[in-house]
Amino acid sequence: MKTKSVKVLPKTTDEIANGGVYIQRVRCGKANCKCARGETHTGYYFFTRRNGKLIKTYIRKADVDALTEIAKQASFNRAQKRLSAKESNKLIRRLRESIRDYETMTKLHKENYKNEPS
Ligand SMILES: [Zn+2]
Repeated sequence: MKTKSVKVLPKTTDEIANGGVYIQRVRCGKANCKCARGETHTGYYFFTRRNGKLIKTYIRKADVDALTEIAKQASFNRAQKRLSAKESNKLIRRLRESIRDYETMTKLHKENYKNEPS
């Protein structure tokens, strides 16, 4: 692949199309560290999918709260968007039904009019 994916954490909700903040337990690999004895480190990562590829970015502890908040807001916005799309579809369906009803009534009316004795 030519383009190198730069791992940059999103700063606004608009930059988050999917994914979120996840905690992972990690071992740093140092032999004398507590994690070598089984007490793993807690790391926060931002997971997102771009062009079908899963991208994992480490979040510094100082940024965890802010990013969690942004990710939550982005997820909420996505849910809202899905909901409003569903609502619009419902409205369009209802409108189509009304038009169909109107056309049926108009047709019936014309037929009645046609059949009326003059
Ligand atoms: Zn360690």
